[in-house]
Amino acid sequence: MFRLLPSVPDHPALEEEILSWWEERGTFEQLRERNRGGPVWSFIDGPVTANKTLGVHTAWGRTLKDVFQRYKALRGFDQRYQNGFDCQGLWIEVGVERELGLNSKPEIEEYGLAEFARKCREKVAWSAQELIRGSKRLGQWMDWGNDYYTFSDTNISYIWRFLKLVHERGWLYRGHRSTEWCPRCGTSISAHELVGSYEERIDPSLFVRFPLIDRPGQSLTIWTTTPWTLPANVAAAVHPDEEYGLQENGEWVAIKRYPDETYVERRPGAELIGWRYAGPFDHLPAAEGIEHRVIGWDEVTMDEGTGIVHIAPGCGTEDFELSRVHDLPVVMPVDEAGRFYDRFGWLHGLSTSESTEQIVADLAERGRLVAAGEYAHRYPFCWRCNTPLIFRIADDWFISVDEVRPRLLAANATVEWTPAYFGKRMDDWLRNMGDWNISRRRYFGLPLPIFPCSCGHVAVVGSRAELDDLATAGMDQLVELHRPWIDAVEIRCPACGTEGVRRIPEIGDVWLDAGIVPFSTLGWENPEFVEGGYGTGAAKGLTGADLPDHNYWETWFPAHWVSEMREQIRLWFYSQLFMSVCLVDKAPFRSVLGYEKMLDEHGRPMHGSWGNLIPAEEAFARMGADVMRWQYCNQPPDRDLLFGYGPAHEIKRKLLTLWNSLGFLVRYANIEGFRPTFDDLASGLVAVELRPLDRWLVVRTEKMLADATAALEQELTHRLIAAFESFVDDLSNWYIRRSRRRFYDYDEAAFRTLWFALVTGLRVISPVMPFLAEHLWRNLVADVCAEAPESVFLAGWPELGEPDERLLAEISEVRRVVELGREARSTAGVKLRQPLRRVYVRGARLAQEHAQEIVEELRVDEVGFDQGPVALVRLLPNLRALGPRLGRKVPEVKAALERGEVEELGDGRIRVAGEELSADEVIRGERVEIAGWTIAYDGTLSVALDTELDPGLELRGRVYELIHTVNNMRKDAGLELTDRIVLTLPDGDELQSHEEWIKAETLASRIERGEALAITKA
Ligand SMILES: [Zn+2]
Ligand SMILES: [Zn+2]
Repeated sequence: MFRLLPSVPDHPALEEEILSWWEERGTFEQLRERNRGGPVWSFIDGPVTANKTLGVHTAWGRTLKDVFQRYKALRGFDQRYQNGFDCQGLWIEVGVERELGLNSKPEIEEYGLAEFARKCREKVAWSAQELIRGSKRLGQWMDWGNDYYTFSDTNISYIWRFLKLVHERGWLYRGHRSTEWCPRCGTSISAHELVGSYEERIDPSLFVRFPLIDRPGQSLTIWTTTPWTLPANVAAAVHPDEEYGLQENGEWVAIKRYPDETYVERRPGAELIGWRYAGPFDHLPAAEGIEHRVIGWDEVTMDEGTGIVHIAPGCGTEDFELSRVHDLPVVMPVDEAGRFYDRFGWLHGLSTSESTEQIVADLAERGRLVAAGEYAHRYPFCWRCNTPLIFRIADDWFISVDEVRPRLLAANATVEWTPAYFGKRMDDWLRNMGDWNISRRRYFGLPLPIFPCSCGHVAVVGSRAELDDLATAGMDQLVELHRPWIDAVEIRCPACGTEGVRRIPEIGDVWLDAGIVPFSTLGWENPEFVEGGYGTGAAKGLTGADLPDHNYWETWFPAHWVSEMREQIRLWFYSQLFMSVCLVDKAPFRSVLGYEKMLDEHGRPMHGSWGNLIPAEEAFARMGADVMRWQYCNQPPDRDLLFGYGPAHEIKRKLLTLWNSLGFLVRYANIEGFRPTFDDLASGLVAVELRPLDRWLVVRTEKMLADATAALEQELTHRLIAAFESFVDDLSNWYIRRSRRRFYDYDEAAFRTLWFALVTGLRVISPVMPFLAEHLWRNLVADVCAEAPESVFLAGWPELGEPDERLLAEISEVRRVVELGREARSTAGVKLRQPLRRVYVRGARLAQEHAQEIVEELRVDEVGFDQGPVALVRLLPNLRALGPRLGRKVPEVKAALERGEVEELGDGRIRVAGEELSADEVIRGERVEIAGWTIAYDGTLSVALDTELDPGLELRGRVYELIHTVNNMRKDAGLELTDRIVLTLPDGDELQSHEEWIKAETLASRIERGEALAITKA
């Protein structure tokens, strides 16, 4: 006996039950055991930042990873299943700072770096447990507990080795440049961290007068949106080839910007070069000795401002570059925290934003302000703390990329990207990226192993072991490779032997941490396998991960597959590619599945403060993990996912078709005592005589499997869902609908066919909905077939024959005919229960062998093909469009159109006489209305029903109505499907000629006469 299904599935409840059953049975361990030694499929998990609980965004990626790992496992592939956590750097620091109520670097230093590092580690340990708990609830199968943590000494040591190699090649250098800077975090931000960090913002828009020293009464007018940079002004740039003019009020501007003004003097920009002017804040000590002058610059735009650009080399990248070309002084107005230095007089201590109002007021008071307004533009914000970024000059460490760039492009060309345009984006990034800024002035992160000696030699230490060799002090207190402990280590300079050489204080970009993973976790060039050997340093006690040996790396590198969202192109995908190409000149992954953004169901970004952020816990409880997973998988990866409860509700509604079909099978199987044959799943229903409809369902199942397998091989889960949905629709609305009666009266072929199809469907959808599939597998298979594996995940991927496409096309056409027939009935207002005399079908050659099905489905007495009063939808060539294109072939096309030898290609396109014609190259004939007939068309297919009724048809219509009413009364009375009844028909009803029919359809043992329609249990 099967367990009866409730009317709707309770997803969260059955999921919790399956989770504990998996746990109890060790299902995942059994699966890994089963696949051990099988072909290898290498997936490398991109580390998730361990500073939070599981969110629905992260659950999306985790679902995709799990779907493909489960699919590959079903196909027998041996896999690693290692999950990873990103554990250090700004992300972690900012969260801990918030919790501790610290808001600046001095406050962190006062708090103490050792204690701060411990808090960061605690945060990671907490978050890792939360993320594991959430991921398990999502149904993700990973080797939990053997996760990698990027802050392990092992991981750090591998990065040191990479940096040493980069240094040996001469690519590591210290650069003095202008860089985007977060004043709150007190560190520079590198180009790839700016991705997606621009937001709309309103800034002041100021027009400011710079009086010319040698031309009294005249001044340059410049425009700026960053008033705080004016005290650092040293030059004004003009375009040498553009024309400038002096207005009557004494102001010089570019004429192209104000073409309607009158000018008393005109000069090309080149003639303005060298003019000296009084700086906007010459009275401040910082401006002492600076001679402000006009320079020429080809990049001056004529699209905004005045055509004269204020240049402050201490506050902008281009300005800084110009300072090198023109030998301009570099004035840095603000410190690491973005506050004015004391040389700026009354501005001292103000932040860039605090200074705005005072600067504007001061300029106005001194008559320097021409105009002030507001300006909306896109401005970069710190991606971690959301503070507006500024530009500062900083000494940072860089990796020069020019030599490696061509090799990166070549390596990327070997990678298969889905969607394909993500690969192009990577190419664009690789072509245009600047040198990699790897240093951050922070605390809890990768300590850069750079030890500059006073002799000029820069030692880059390549491993923890090398540090042991070189160290002269501080090793005894080195608990792990983090600040402050690493800062106390001193080494001997390998070049001159000087002792006491200290590390630079900077830490590394987090993308170094994640980029090294394909080497550090797989044991690249590690001489021997160390069990549990990865859990070193801060990771000690958090993971049991091994440090494998080089053979292992050879087996698992490069990854067959990685998958993350689009922004990772310039982040993790990039840093991995970069490090891998530097180390082994090879891409670290063979194929990538990327995906776009997640928004709420109305298309807005989800934000905690907007109240539209859905916590994963809430989603598990309200929609269930399977429905979430379905929603994620139903998403084409090249479009944004609109996630929410509305779509979840729609999915649940759709799933009911599957659920009801399963419920139908279970109910009648129990009534009729059906026992499934496990062998049917593999050998395909031998030793039972199948009817044509059964054979069709078998073929339809084969087709679904073939489509689903192709979708998974193409890494397109939404196609898997589409294949499954249309299969369920065919199974429910064609097979069950057409076979119902066979289940009321035990028909073994019907039961076996339906069971086979449903179970195969569950196996195919199991990677997407592991809980529901497992729950139903146990009910329909494992609990009733002794030879069956206890879990659907231990049953392997189904293998069936090639589908018979001809049979599929036939039934697909029959279904189209039936749908058109119903549409035609509905147009004419004729109920489906009312029998009609005949239907004529045109343009459905394949459906002709299924005349009986059409007759039954459309409730007509006869069907005729390509005959009767209704014309075929006439197709004529559009000569104006086709003539020039096809020339002398037009008559052949016209003749084929007349013969109806046309293949519809969708969207109005057709193929005829070997040519593909677009919709506007064909003229479609008019709809033909004929009295007494109702017609529906679809392309060249037409279905016409004779709507005229005679007394016989009317009477049969009433019998159908009666049967329908009685069966509803049976349901309302709570009768079992097998219960017999006594039916009372009203006196004088002339239905007696159909009594036997009525009795059979309503399970009535006899019919009585009475006042009103009634039933009683017999
Ligand atoms: Zn910041
Ligand atoms: Zn030295």
